[in-house]
Amino acid sequence: MASEKTTTLKEFKDNLLESYRKEFPNDEPTICAFAPGRVNLIGEHVDYNDGFVFPMAIPLGTMIIGKALDNSTNNNKCYIQTLSNDVDEPKSIEVDLTKEISRFESPKWANYVVGVLALFLERTKPEKRQSFRIIIATSVPIGGGLSSSASVEVAMCTFLELLYQYSSFNFQPLSKVNKALLCCKAEQTYAQVPCGIMDQYTACIAEADHALLIDCRNNTSQSIPMKNKDVCVLVVNSNVKHELVAGTYAQRVQHCQEAANILGHKKLREVSSIEELEKARDKMSSVIYKRARHAITEIKRTEAGAKALINNDYNEFGRLMYDSHESLRDDFEVSCEELDQLVELARSVDGVYGSRMTGGGFGGCTVTLVKKSSVEKCIDTIKKGYKGTASFYEFEPSNGTCSVNLKKD
Ligand code: ADP
Ligand code: MG
Repeated sequence: MASEKTTTLKEFKDNLLESYRKEFPNDEPTICAFAPGRVNLIGEHVDYNDGFVFPMAIPLGTMIIGKALDNSTNNNKCYIQTLSNDVDEPKSIEVDLTKEISRFESPKWANYVVGVLALFLERTKPEKRQSFRIIIATSVPIGGGLSSSASVEVAMCTFLELLYQYSSFNFQPLSKVNKALLCCKAEQTYAQVPCGIMDQYTACIAEADHALLIDCRNNTSQSIPMKNKDVCVLVVNSNVKHELVAGTYAQRVQHCQEAANILGHKKLREVSSIEELEKARDKMSSVIYKRARHAITEIKRTEAGAKALINNDYNEFGRLMYDSHESLRDDFEVSCEELDQLVELARSVDGVYGSRMTGGGFGGCTVTLVKKSSVEKCIDTIKKGYKGTASFYEFEPSNGTCSVNLKKD
């Protein structure tokens, strides 16, 4: 098959259960939580500008399996282990629930998990703290722009909700939006990535067969049906990751804030039109102007994209995707040669509506909207023309986070 196979939740659970049993024989787990990654169809680098974004959840994600432990025999400890080969060592950590839960200098991955644990305890105020053991596995390519990070955070939060329900300790339940906000805050403060709300919101709230138009100004959303059997969402992983990423993301966030400050707004979402930016052009450097132009036009494109999809107008949606890519490449300067090449190769194929880089940039994935009948041709063209080795995924819009039943098959 040309595309990667996507494991079902059941296969994922069976594999993880087997790993758990190997590691801890005769000690059955009782809780299993899943949260998906996401692909953003349009609306890139605008969540932190309070803009509109338009992602969908994907069938890949993070699964966390584990159980409550007896607090006294385990000295109020939590044991956390990841099976991922793509994160820093060590793969196992311990957290003492009697102490303040602070950031880890290393391993870095721990912050995505303990950040959620710390904020969960702070926000939901359980009457007692519960020790636990967990194993974490992720099917999302890590660092590929499909948000393995939010899938870990949200799966962890779902695991904790289930753990406290299971333990019958009273705690203040979280709404879905507050859960997304908590996970986003964990990434910002513990992992120290100044991310917006899009990824965590999608992992919490997305619905199968729908894309999600999120208004990041007030954290509300509209599910928009996306069930056209003749159209496919093809995600192509460039399998490159340029070193630039970490610092550059924070720098782009800062550039946008600078532009908003110059224009006298809290966020770039408040800018009424591109003319408002043009009038203030001489008040800012050309770099800040270009960053703002991307954010302002991308927010408009995203609103227009959602309308196009409601009207089943895939040609229009595709055109907006190409415009988005060009804006990210030329104004926001977060693309790279490999992503540009993937978009151009897709564009050369009949039956492709549109294509663009997706995620933070400098590597990772492109997303392409293509007629089902042209998918094979598209994959073939990219395989032949791409200078690297790409991987291909055909994704259906999937559900948000859920509990996975361990008893039933
Ligand atoms: P993306 O979200 O696009 O995949 P990020 O750089 O935002 O890329 O997040 C990747 C980071 O998330 C990893 O470096 C690691 O710290 C954390 N992470 C993702 N999956 C796992 C996992 N299964 N176990 C532990 N940490 C993970
Ligand atoms: Mg991420």
